[in-house]
Amino acid sequence: MTLDEYERHLLGHLCWWCHHATHRSSARQRQCPGCRAKWSYHRRKTEWELLRAFAFSTTAHHAARVVRCSYPTAHAAYTRFRLTLQAMTDEEKRPLLGALELDESYFGGKRKGKRGRGAAGKVAVFGILERAGRVYTVAVPNCQKETLMAKIEAATVKGSVFYTDEFASYQDLKRHGKHVPIDHQETFGIGAAHINGIEGFWSFAKRLYRHVHGVEPGNFPLYLAEYEFRYNHRGEHLMTLLYDRLIRDAVPTRNQP
Ligand SMILES: [Zn+2]
Repeated sequence: MTLDEYERHLLGHLCWWCHHATHRSSARQRQCPGCRAKWSYHRRKTEWELLRAFAFSTTAHHAARVVRCSYPTAHAAYTRFRLTLQAMTDEEKRPLLGALELDESYFGGKRKGKRGRGAAGKVAVFGILERAGRVYTVAVPNCQKETLMAKIEAATVKGSVFYTDEFASYQDLKRHGKHVPIDHQETFGIGAAHINGIEGFWSFAKRLYRHVHGVEPGNFPLYLAEYEFRYNHRGEHLMTLLYDRLIRDAVPTRNQP
């Protein structure tokens, strides 16, 4: 489908479920003459505009002003979009193999005080980047050896090549494959011995996260899944990927017989 067809679809000129051309049954309501599904034109239009704002990484707060809906409406739509991306991210997960870059990073928390590893009020995230493919992320309670090794063994194929920094939690990696620890001072930028790929992902994700204020710790994985999906599909059109899925999952409301 072209973007123009998507728009006709979403605005209700075409039925989501049977693709029948529709007419307006009242000023606000539309009903499909084919399958009798009903929807509100106004709500569809708002949803379409919010979807476009989300695809362009606009905050829900800003989107509410541009689309002229309430903040709770925009926030609810954004949460629905993020849940959908999280489901799609989970479905795409498969064991990672080949040349892999491993690293941990911290999101959120106050800027003052301790930075980096073990900083208070921050969420620890562990990431693996497959050089030939995609990134995998997971929020972790801590970055101890046992915690990280369990994630690595679950997400990667044994015998892969693991590029890491010299953090002690990675010292058992040779059990699981070839381990290449990188001394940032000595080998920075030489040949394949680097973790520039995963570091690029952290700056990508943090640029987006900087605009988000006050995420409940329990909701953080939802944002992380969004960044992972956006990164893994950065050459594609997020709006159409998300829209295809939203239509697939939509449940029609119909007149009672
Ligand atoms: Zn229909």
